[in-house]
Amino acid sequence: MPPDAIAANYRMILSRLAAAAQRAGRDPHQVQVLGASKTVPVDRLRQAVAAGLRRFGENYLQEAKPKIAALAGEQISWHFIGHLQSNKAREAVRYFDLIHSVDRPSLATALEQAAAKIGKIQDILLEINLAGEASKSGAAPAEAVELLQHCLGLPHLRVVGLMAMPPWDPDPEASRPYFRALRQLRDRLEHQFPGISLPELSMGMSADYEVAVEEGATLVRLGTALFGPRPAKT
Ligand SMILES: *Cc1c(COP(=O)(O)O)cnc(C)c1O
Repeated sequence: MPPDAIAANYRMILSRLAAAAQRAGRDPHQVQVLGASKTVPVDRLRQAVAAGLRRFGENYLQEAKPKIAALAGEQISWHFIGHLQSNKAREAVRYFDLIHSVDRPSLATALEQAAAKIGKIQDILLEINLAGEASKSGAAPAEAVELLQHCLGLPHLRVVGLMAMPPWDPDPEASRPYFRALRQLRDRLEHQFPGISLPELSMGMSADYEVAVEEGATLVRLGTALFGPRPAKT
């Protein structure tokens, strides 16, 4: 890709986001782009930063650490969007402003202990496996109440919303019922836990982010739409 391709992609994404928000009667400023930057090297992240992107989501700690170090001089918010093992909790709270993938009480407890140790209040999202796909992590929707209840008892965690990844489908409209279900689950949880606010909905990827925004997404996680195709998995 030419060096300015990322900037051009980012501009196009922002204009599509704005149009999608408008269609849904939403303020485009309620939607933030997270660059899903797994496998993307630091020099391309710098291009995205130069284009104005200030948020990246990484899936693997080992990959993220050197990238975070390399870009330490920039004002960047780093999010963790991959599956997290409890034994990585200490590093996760050290490096990430928002952890999207809290899907079980034992992980929440590990993050609580790690955050307490460094005196941090860790923002998290609860990851929900809406379709019950065995290949994906995420709590079942029926477990969400219990998971949230558990997290609310942990003083160094702050649950700010929900995250989900619908089953892959080439048709973006196929994702709509899942995005809607996540928003409705959020609404039910807020109703069930008065005084608790879950403003963030992390949903929508390169193929379906416009639909996600129409359904209430506040964080869209974009990889290929922003950075181009990833190298094939080996
Ligand atoms: C890779 C990844 C994305 C981005 O996927 P694209 O289809 O390339 O936009 C979003 N969310 C998660 C959790 C990912 O692992």
